[in-house]
Amino acid sequence: MLRDAHNRTIRDLRISLTDRCNFRCFYCLPHGEPAWAKRETLLTFEEITRLAGIFVSLGIEKIRLTGGEPLIRRDVPVLVKMLSSLKPQLRDLALTTNGYDFERFAGALKAAGLDRVTFSLDSVRPERFREITGSDSLGRVLSSIEAAKRLGFLPVKVNAVIVRGRNDDEVPELARFARENDVSMRFIEYMPLDSGREWDRSLVVSGREIRERIEREFPLELKEPSRGSETAWKFRFADGSPGEVGIIAPVTEMFCGQCSRIRLTADGQIRTCLFSTKEHDLLGPLRSGIGDDEIAEVIKAAALKKEPSHYINDPGFIQPDRTMSFIGG
Ligand code: SAM
Ligand code: SF4
Repeated sequence: MLRDAHNRTIRDLRISLTDRCNFRCFYCLPHGEPAWAKRETLLTFEEITRLAGIFVSLGIEKIRLTGGEPLIRRDVPVLVKMLSSLKPQLRDLALTTNGYDFERFAGALKAAGLDRVTFSLDSVRPERFREITGSDSLGRVLSSIEAAKRLGFLPVKVNAVIVRGRNDDEVPELARFARENDVSMRFIEYMPLDSGREWDRSLVVSGREIRERIEREFPLELKEPSRGSETAWKFRFADGSPGEVGIIAPVTEMFCGQCSRIRLTADGQIRTCLFSTKEHDLLGPLRSGIGDDEIAEVIKAAALKKEPSHYINDPGFIQPDRTMSFIGG
């Protein structure tokens, strides 16, 4: 069992496959070319699978592959197949993708054992989609979402980061998209993890405001009174329409007390929080040739250092050096 020093059990591992991306979402990777991780530091599929196996032996039940854009890594279905060998102790194998290339790989990912997929979609207006992501590819992302539904990756989740003055006027439209397409649309508060360091509290649209804006058009009903270790409050549409709304409010309604997550970066660093300012090296120990038991000890020691909470709302908050695209959202 992987536990931290604050009595939380860690069951959820996010693995970043790459820090690179074919999009340039302004809230994640806004300016120019950041310094990418050196290729030789990237974990190979064999290394990822070995580490994932050790994490699973320590009680990890869910793995999510993310990035950067995970699907720009070659042969991701091969990795999914390798990780699927960790089932049934591994109960859930998921992917977060911008959807640009998902349709192309969807069948192979399903056959390899991928259970679930989450897309990012911050606008359903083509021109705005291009402004936000730097990529003129709304149509491709929508086709990918359809492909995921067709192949039964259910429920299909769609993340939308809401930023004041950029897409907050589109909140009801995105809720309508959830209803019309029977997906779980998850509205996320903007977090200070952008490489341009342009985040400002005034740009955050609170979860509460997001809910109010949706409810002006589509009344909602809370699905469950508690969210457990989940990040989202989940709502159904009160009129019984298909689809779901999730609201993720890490800035204004911190949920660190129930956090069950730990992260592995593409270059083999453990991050115990999105907002960690310190990482725990696994690449060095892994490549030094030590055995699984010793690696497990390194992981357990890192978990014990998991921060009690993020400090976004404290006056002395320091934005981590690595941005969301490096950390693996
Ligand atoms: N490229 C994939 C994608 O976009 O889905 C996976 C990686 S991306 C970093 C994972 C999630 O982080 C996305 O849903 C994205 O919207 C979210 N994200 C990125 N930067 C963020 C920020 N500053 N605040 C809140 N969410 C952010
Ligand atoms: Fe790329 Fe995802 Fe970041 Fe957008 S949110 S720049 S798609 S990693």
